[in-house]
Amino acid sequence: MSSHNFSIEFFPPKTPEGAEKLRVTRAKLAELQPKYFSVTFGAGGTTQQGTLDTVVDIRKEGYAAAPHLSCVGGTRDSIRDILKQYQAHDIHRLVALRGDLPSGYGAAGEFRYANELVEFIRAETGDWFHIEVAAYPEMHPQARSPQDDLQNFVRKMNAGANAAITQYFYNADAYFQFVELAQKAGVAAPIVAGIMPITNSSQLIRFSEMCGAEIPRWVRLKLASFGDDSASIKAFGLDVVTQLCERLLAGGAPGLHFYSLNQAAATTAIWQRLV
Ligand SMILES: Cc1cc2nc3c(=O)[nH]c(=O)nc-3n(C[C@H](O)[C@H](O)[C@H](O)COP(=O)(O)OP(=O)(O)OC[C@H]3O[C@@H](n4cnc5c(N)ncnc54)[C@H](O)[C@@H]3O)c2cc1C
Repeated sequence: MSSHNFSIEFFPPKTPEGAEKLRVTRAKLAELQPKYFSVTFGAGGTTQQGTLDTVVDIRKEGYAAAPHLSCVGGTRDSIRDILKQYQAHDIHRLVALRGDLPSGYGAAGEFRYANELVEFIRAETGDWFHIEVAAYPEMHPQARSPQDDLQNFVRKMNAGANAAITQYFYNADAYFQFVELAQKAGVAAPIVAGIMPITNSSQLIRFSEMCGAEIPRWVRLKLASFGDDSASIKAFGLDVVTQLCERLLAGGAPGLHFYSLNQAAATTAIWQRLV
């Protein structure tokens, strides 16, 4: 386990109670000794301040923190300010993203795509940050084709990213093929697999429709057959996702990034089975 690159993602809590709850969750997850905790930005209406507050909390507790930074709607000046704040807090990791504008939000700002953000971060801060970018083994939902998306991914890596984290998926073959094609196109950096534990079927179906992750038919049917039986959903989800992780690691995945949704139980249960 320790030779792999394991990380855990949170979203910034919106209330002081949420922040306290997340501290308790984090203390539990810290026992697993992940390489770093990442904190999303902008998803679900959260703010840059929420991301900053959460990563500062994480740093105070002595752990490595990686704020996500999305550039859509941002300007060079606003992104420069954010980078300076992170440097002032001794943050050395970033997950650099384009992000998504809410529909009807208007102009896209000074950055169109994540590769432009990566270039900007490198131009402004040299090698200060270890930069992670997003990858989509099942294709980004707005891409014209898988080939086009792969080319865009390669461009983003060549702009100066150190590593990538994938969108979550339940088809290991999609991941392995994506990695193989990226490597053939010259990407030598690690492509860490994003892992979404399964604990709630309606939430999973909603998320997956938004981000273009496929839930295999047999998984969907099984989940539906459990109805409201939350214990059976969790037990089945634990088996499915643990087996996926085992397959990924056995097939050479350099690490796993857990989308924890600010909960400790599911990530811990999968992790302990993998040890
Ligand atoms: C690990 C991970 C973490 C995430 N964290 C967050 C978060 O914290 N906050 C949040 O709001 N969202 C987050 N997202 C979601 C992400 O912001 C969306 O998926 C967004 O739509 C794309 O961001 P990106 O950085 O992948 O974009 P890009 O790499 O810019 O790609 C976006 C689309 O444009 C195309 N494209 C890319 N470059 C070019 C180019 N130069 N010319 C033409 N087309 C191009 C791509 O093929 C793709 O279809 C995360 C996703 C992942 C996988």
